[in-house]
Order: sequence, then structure tokens, then C-alpha cells
Amino acid sequence: MRIDVLTLFPEMFDGVFRSSILGKARDKGIVRLNAVNFREYANNKHNTVDDYPYGGGGGMVLKPEPLFAAVEDLVPQDGPPPRVILMCPQGETYSQRKAEELAREEHLVFLCGHYEGYDERIREYLVTDELSIGDYVLTGGELPAMTVIDSVVRLLPGVLGNETSAITDSFSTGLLEHPQYTRPAVFRGWEVPEVLMSGHHAHVAAWRREQSLLRTWNRRRDLLESAELTDKERAWLAQMKAQTKSPSTTE
Ligand code: SAM
Repeated sequence: MRIDVLTLFPEMFDGVFRSSILGKARDKGIVRLNAVNFREYANNKHNTVDDYPYGGGGGMVLKPEPLFAAVEDLVPQDGPPPRVILMCPQGETYSQRKAEELAREEHLVFLCGHYEGYDERIREYLVTDELSIGDYVLTGGELPAMTVIDSVVRLLPGVLGNETSAITDSFSTGLLEHPQYTRPAVFRGWEVPEVLMSGHHAHVAAWRREQSLLRTWNRRRDLLESAELTDKERAWLAQMKAQTKSPSTTE
């Protein structure tokens, strides 16, 4: 996969692209990561990339020319068109499903905004996706782009040492992940559930599934509506809902 990031602060990506899983994926040649300063594509004497908004008001707006020129320069003439992703608090809320979708692409281009926002023509005619990482406003699109890139790259085949870990992660299964324990078996008197040390794979799998369902019920009930459940699990869910509605139930 190839990933290009258009930013006014490419140095912010130095550490992130060189460290941990992203650094390893890059060293293994699984992903090519490239941060480009789109100021280099400014077509005016002072290299300005922003200007005052038409109609007045506070803040500066990113001009269209540098971003269009940068994307056009980065897109290979012969390859398939990349996904051009605008980081924006008004965009689609980012999710694990979207990470899985983007991980199937060959080339992603991220546009990191700053200041008040972008000229609307960038949104209308240049980008294929607008992504928000949550209902809050950051100074720029760099941290959101890093978040998306990290979550996409770790899904690429060969990136994670233990391939199953991405499959069982929270959200990948439609549920939150079950609790995890490691040595020691007893810490300050708190014991690891016995079933996990039983060596009985079927019992361990059943316990994990049950815990995953319970955790999702307790923390993210909304996920259970679209999760893939067996008939038995659906019956359990119906029972849990009935108990919650019952006036005799105490929370
Ligand atoms: N005036 C804009 C608005 O109200 O939608 C907010 C601009 S914000 C200060 C500057 C830039 O930070 C945005 O263009 C975007 O690239 C990035 N940004 C801020 N919050 C974000 C979020 N929650 N998700 C994705 N990008 C975000």
C-alpha cells in the first residue's frame, strides 16, 4: 500500500512513521509512507496556502490551488485512482468497518486541514471521503490522519506478528473484546479465572465469547443490534432486554 499525507507540518509524522508497528511495516516494505508539505505547491510569490473567507468572518481558509496541484502530482498516470481522504470534523465518523474498507485499497492520500477550514471546492471536486475521528475539534488534521493510518496499516497482511489479534480485536467481531490476563496467576490475591488455565480450548473459547457479549451489553449495547449472533445468543439478548425493562429489576 502507498500512503501520502498532504500537510503543512510533515515533521509531525517523522516519529510516528518510524516507530512501532508503522515503522516495522515500512521496513518490511508492506507500506510506503510519505508526508508532503503542500506549501511546496503554492503558486504565488509568498507561498501562501490560505486566504480570507469570501463574505467576511474570522479565520483563514485553505486555498484550492496547492491541494489540487499536490494531489495531481502524486497520483500516478497509469495506476488506479487513489482514495483522497479529507480529515474533517464534519465528515463520516471513522470506524473499524471503514478501516477494513480502506485497508483493501492500494493508494490513500490524506489531506490535513488547518485554520478555519477548506475552500468548499476541495470537498466537492477533489476528495473521495471525508472522515472525522469524533465529535470534537482539533487544531489540525495531522493527529486524525495518524489515527486513521495507524488503524489501517495494522490490518495489512504481514504487519501484526500475531495475525489473529486484529481479527479478535474489539469492533472487528462486531463486539467488544473479552478480558485478557497474563502471569502471575495470582496477583495481590486476585486470581485469573480458572477456565483460562484449564488448557481446554473449547471451554476457553466459550468463556471468551460469553465475556465479550457481557462486556458489550454493559458498555456498548448499541453494537449488539448489528452483531452476528447465534440463535442462543439472540435468546439471551432478548432475556437481558426483558429483565432490564422489568420494573422489579434493580440496576
Ligand atoms: N471550522 C472547522 C469546522 O467547524 O468544521 C474546523 C476546522 S479545525 C480547527 C482545522 C482542521 O483540523 C480541520 O480542517 C481538520 O482537518 C482537522 N480536524 C479537526 N477536528 C477534527 C476531527 N474531529 N476529525 C478530523 N479532522 C479534524
